[in-house]
Amino acid sequence: MRSTFIAAFVAIALGSAAPAAPVLAPPPQLGSDVLPYVHVPAGRIAITHLRVIDGTGAAPIEDATLLIDGASIGAVLAAGAAVPPGYTLLDGTGETALPGLVGMHNHLFYLQRPNIDAAGRSEQPIIVPQMTFSAPRLYLANGVTTMRTTGSVEPYTDLSLKREIDAGHLVGPHLDVTGPYLEGPGAFFIQNHQITSPEDARQTVAYWAAQGVNSFKAYMNITRAELGAAIKEAHRHHLKLTGHLCSVTYPEAVALGIDNLEHGFFVNTQLDPGKQPDKCPTSGGTPTLLKMKPGSPEANALIKLLVDHHVAVTSTLPVFEQSVPLHSPLQARQMDVLTPQAKESYLYLRNLTNSRAGTPRAAQSAEAYRNDLGLERQFVAAGGLLLAGPDPTGNGGVIPGFGDQRELELLVEAGFTPLEAIRIGTMNGATYLGLADRIGSIAAGKNADLFIVNGNPAAKIGDIENVVLVFKDGVGFESRKLLDSVKGRYGQY
Ligand SMILES: [Zn+2]
Repeated sequence: MRSTFIAAFVAIALGSAAPAAPVLAPPPQLGSDVLPYVHVPAGRIAITHLRVIDGTGAAPIEDATLLIDGASIGAVLAAGAAVPPGYTLLDGTGETALPGLVGMHNHLFYLQRPNIDAAGRSEQPIIVPQMTFSAPRLYLANGVTTMRTTGSVEPYTDLSLKREIDAGHLVGPHLDVTGPYLEGPGAFFIQNHQITSPEDARQTVAYWAAQGVNSFKAYMNITRAELGAAIKEAHRHHLKLTGHLCSVTYPEAVALGIDNLEHGFFVNTQLDPGKQPDKCPTSGGTPTLLKMKPGSPEANALIKLLVDHHVAVTSTLPVFEQSVPLHSPLQARQMDVLTPQAKESYLYLRNLTNSRAGTPRAAQSAEAYRNDLGLERQFVAAGGLLLAGPDPTGNGGVIPGFGDQRELELLVEAGFTPLEAIRIGTMNGATYLGLADRIGSIAAGKNADLFIVNGNPAAKIGDIENVVLVFKDGVGFESRKLLDSVKGRYGQY
């Protein structure tokens, strides 16, 4: 009685009638819309002759047997160990198991440009339609078992999606639902609420915390006072806040107590010429990144500040790769999931970027990109927590799930080893979410959230693309079937 009273009192004091549903819900009974995608039902499963990359950065275990006991990982047995009785055997010869990816910048919407033409021109307003059908399937099919939405356009839709996935009615990863973008006047998407004061920022955070979101994200046009008020309110609800910033610099955000910064070092504006307090300069951070060479005094000071204050940084290389002329084209498997309009829009924009090859602007993009890679490596070497996510927006060439794989490939191009890149994409995300005891690595007792690929991503990171099965809570989903179910749909719904 007394404890009930205290709990009720605490809930009222926090202004939170319905606290957020946890990111990891208990394993549900799967419904008729999910079962068609299940290849291996939950049970006692032994996958033999399997290579296991555990996600901690440790060397792969060769010729292992992975035991799955219902929703949990039972054990990883060494080569030659006998399989206990009662297990259904699957042969994993030639295959590798990895922990499910923890995608930390994984939107559930598509960036629509109305009436885009061959010159890349489009009309206002930019409308951001929800991909509530296709995105969760694309993520899960490509190995993402937990993800943060990192900015919501329709927060009620995303909360409903989480509820339906957690109930076993819809297929998709575990969701950390981020509240609506905390953004002032000048918002990029017309669907955004425009925050007008610190009190408005506080109330917005309090309201969405009560509605059950798991995290918050500040956006480009927010004042220091508004950001400070939002962070304080989020922390009062024990929720973390990240930012894709511009008007507020990285050091200013650190001083206000932010938990995480999005987009590596691309959007820090502290050295942009003419930067006005609380205003987003049109240069958007590129001059800062061009000046901030890895190892320079400015870089060393910023990285020390981030590490000292335990501020995580999210690497979103795929969306920036798209602005470098002559970058890798989309693979056929990716083209296959786009609507005809999304293909057309992507090809127009890609063409435009390629037409800039050899210009000073292109050289600048390439230099900024290289500086960011060096800064991300320096941040990790200094003990910083680097997270990974694709940010499926930009020119439409970054697609849910495929983009998560691309992020790890680009981390390897940046100079990380494949095992380091895999840890950044799995264990580091779990650590940030406070869930490292349950997900993020393959170890006995943890959630059976993992995926199986053909080949060996420890030797060739590109093998991460060859997904066969994705286990979530011990249920094995067939990647191929999920991808087939969204053919030609991404960009529509
Ligand atoms: Zn984003």
